[in-house]
This record gives sequence, C-alpha cells and structure tokens, in this order.
Amino acid sequence: MKSKNNNRKNNKTFEDNETIDYLIIGNSAAGLAAAESIRELDRAGEIIILTAENYLNYSKPMITYFLAGAVNLDMIHFKDEKFYTDNRLDIRLNTRVKSIDTNKMFLITDDGKRYEFRKLLIASGGRPIIPKIKVVGAGSFDFIDGTNYEKVGGIFTLTNLEDAIRVKNYIEKNDIKNISILGGGLIGLKAAEAFLEKGIDINIIELADRILATTFDREASGIIERKIKSAGSNIYRNNTIEEIYIESGKITGYKLKDGRKMECSLLIIAVGVNPDASFIESGSLDMVKGIIVDDHMRTSVKNIYAAGDVVEGPDMLSGGKRNIAIWPLAVRQGTAAGVNMAGRNKRYGGGFFMNSVELLGIPSISMGITNIGEEAEGIEVLRDFDADRNMYRKVIIKNNRIIGVILIGNIERAGIYSGLIRNEIDISSVKENISREDFGIIHLPTDYKKHLVVGEGIEV
Ligand SMILES: Cc1cc2nc3c(=O)[nH]c(=O)nc-3n(C[C@H](O)[C@H](O)[C@H](O)COP(=O)(O)OP(=O)(O)OC[C@H]3O[C@@H](n4cnc5c(N)ncnc54)[C@H](O)[C@@H]3O)c2cc1C
Repeated sequence: MKSKNNNRKNNKTFEDNETIDYLIIGNSAAGLAAAESIRELDRAGEIIILTAENYLNYSKPMITYFLAGAVNLDMIHFKDEKFYTDNRLDIRLNTRVKSIDTNKMFLITDDGKRYEFRKLLIASGGRPIIPKIKVVGAGSFDFIDGTNYEKVGGIFTLTNLEDAIRVKNYIEKNDIKNISILGGGLIGLKAAEAFLEKGIDINIIELADRILATTFDREASGIIERKIKSAGSNIYRNNTIEEIYIESGKITGYKLKDGRKMECSLLIIAVGVNPDASFIESGSLDMVKGIIVDDHMRTSVKNIYAAGDVVEGPDMLSGGKRNIAIWPLAVRQGTAAGVNMAGRNKRYGGGFFMNSVELLGIPSISMGITNIGEEAEGIEVLRDFDADRNMYRKVIIKNNRIIGVILIGNIERAGIYSGLIRNEIDISSVKENISREDFGIIHLPTDYKKHLVVGEGIEV
C-alpha cells in the first residue's frame, strides 16, 4: 500500500517550532504498537511517526510471500489508513532521520527539518550486513560493500519491501532461472522458499558447515538440506564468495572460496542484519550493536525509549541483554514502550528467539536456545527423529525447564512448547511424553493445565 500523500497531517498540524509530545522513528511492528498504546492512554498528546520508507506499513515477514507471488501489495499491510486517522497519528513517509541531539532533545531529518520532542521512541529496526567482496571487471570500483552494491545490476538484499519489489521486477525483466543466495540463515532460507515456489533453481552459499546453523542442529539442517537438494538446487557449505564478476554493470558470476567459478545473474546477499542505529552519534546513548534498554524499554537517556530490532533488551533465557530480532517481540516491546511513554508503568517481561520457515512443504520452527551442547551442566536433550517422514522433534531441558525446541514436519504444538518456555514450567512429571509427536495439552502438568483453562490461554 503505497501512500498517495507523503506528508499527511491527521488533525493537529505540526509546526516547525513546536515541541512534539511523542515522536516515533519507525512505522513498523514496534513503532505502531507503541503509537497505539500511547493513544489508548493519552487521547490529546500529539504523536508524529517518521519513516524512511514510502509505504504506509507492511508486514516484513510477508515480503518473501509477495516475492513468491502468493500475496499482492494490498494484502501485506497490517494497519489500514483508518488506523492512522482514528488514532490521530501524523505519519511522515520518506522522512529519514539523520541525527539526534539527545541533550537538547531534537532530531534532524534528511530534508533538513528539525523536530523537537518531549518523548522519543527509536524503533528503526535493522539493516542488512554487506560483506566487502573483491570485484573483477567493474572498472569503476574494486570491491562491493554497503556503500555501492546497489549500483550493480543483479545484486540485492532482501530486508524490506522495496528490495522485494526490485528483485521481483528484475527476475521478470531478465527472465532469471537461477538465483544465488549468499547466506543460509533465516532470511536466506525465506528467500529460497520464495524462489523455489516460483520454480527458480537456487544455489545457497553458507560459511558454516550447514544451513540455519544458529537456530538448527545437524539433524534439523540435514532434513531441510536434503529437501532443497532433491528439488535440484545446490548448497555450498563451508564456503563464501571471494570474487564477483561484473560486465556492463551487471553481475555475471562469482568465485567461491573453494576455487569454483559460478555463473550468476542474480545474487541475494543475506548474511545477517544489524540493528539500524546509524543515525545515533557514538556515546550519546548506551549501545553495543543495538541500543541498550531496560525492562521498561528506557534507553540511557531520560525520555528516550527504544524498541524492536534496534535494541538489545532483556533476554528471558540468559537473563542478560540480547538483540532478538523477531516480529512478536518488536510488538511486545513497542507496546511496553508506548505505555511507559504515556506515563504508566509496564514491564517488558523479556523474550526469547522463535522463528518458523516452510521449505518445499516441510514446516519448521525453532525457539529458545537450540544449539547448546548436551554435555553442558544441567542440560538434557530429548529427541524424536523419523528421517523417512522428515519429522524431527528436539526438546532441550535445563533444570527441568524447557529452554529450547526444534520442530520439523509437524509444528502444530508449537504454541504449547512456547508457553512452557515462557512460563518456566517444571516439566519433570511429564518428561517421558515431551518429545512425542502427539504431545498435547492432555500431557501437561496438572497445575499448568488448570492455569491454561482459567488463566492466559495458549499463545501460538
Ligand atoms: C525477509 C524477512 C523475513 C522475516 N520473517 C520473520 C518471521 O517469519 N517471523 C518473525 O517473527 N520475524 C521475521 N522477520 C523479522 C521481523 O520482520 C522484524 O523483527 C520486525 O519487522 C521488527 O520490527 P521493528 O518495528 O523493530 O523494525 P522494522 O520492521 O525493521 O521497521 C523499521 C522502521 O524504521 C524505519 N527507519 C529505519 N531507519 C530510519 C531512519 N533513519 N529514519 C526514519 N525511519 C527509519 C523504517 O522505514 C521502518 O518503518 C523477518 C524479517 C525479514 C527481513
């Protein structure tokens, strides 16, 4: 849903010299959850949302479905225009924040405008990592990196809607039949899912010894790898791209670390995403890679909050702070930030990693800590593996509490497992059933079952 109007003003008009009550950077999961909860508590305060993009909003997890042609642009927004009008949210599209003065409480945008604020939320998400790769034949540059990769025809990232539209157009215009993906993590695999869906062959190049190495174990990665290979596509493990060949401004091939030379007319770079805090001057807020927040989403500066993929926030399982870049946590953090910005008191209880991907008809989910060594103290691992049916179930338990789960093939009970992790339920009485394929509510500890009936229910 591209906006017809770049500077919409829904009610009160913002003047350049006015101090805004609530200023939000980011118009996505975290930013909009915050705006909504502020408005529920403060009917009068002015809320302005700034976004660098030209789309009213869209679900990032759905951009690969758009790429596959499974949904169209109108189907991927998660809030309609009425949401902004009803909540009197003044949304500024195409407005990129360039710098923030955290002492004097104002920020400057790309078009030179100054926005003074009483309270600020930074919900700017993540930005793709672009490794530096040697170029052969381009003439004007010796390397590609984050500053110039977009100048090469056929090299893309895939982290926002504009990327997906550009890739889709490029495939159609150039009749692309084979795509290489640098990076076999979640975004690389979601891209692979879209291309396989379109009948395009893929080459996945992965530095680790298997795909999805940070979230899957060897058995789980193996199931997905075998399925990809059986579809006629290739995975190059323990590998990376060392040289890229460019002719007439377009990628034509690359050389792998193992020396093989490959033809290529479209390359997706999907080696990871970092918190997007590029507009924050070093030292002005406590940061590691992301902005450090406490359990109320407060940064180190009073009245400046942060939420979503840009933060390092409380990690439920380790007890420390971590960047966990997933949609449901961005929403929960945004909601907590909004309530606190509006003057109430809401704790963000911490979160844990969870993601799912479906490849060639095999659904999978991983959640929590899934790659911990079985020899670690207090750790028990229960497994149920049926290679012929592409079924795998692994439950990692620490001191009688589940801390991680991998489900491949049948993911129907994922909500039950995530509830057990989130509520830190002692599962010692039901351990023998926990990795069974038919594990369900009936097997849960009695007290917890009662709590589900009269309590919060199951969140999937
Ligand atoms: C391809 C893909 C698939 C994914 N699949 C899943 C999935 O299946 N499940 C899941 O849970 N998560 C998934 N994720 C992750 C999920 O999309 C993110 O966790 C979520 O979008 C984070 O929300 P956010 O509000 O923090 O940031 P984002 O959604 O990244 O939004 C950031 C906002 O900030 C704006 N912005 C950034 N910089 C500036 C600036 N300087 N000035 C002004 N505005 C700025 C942007 O325009 C945007 O509006 C996926 C991500 C990708 C890329």
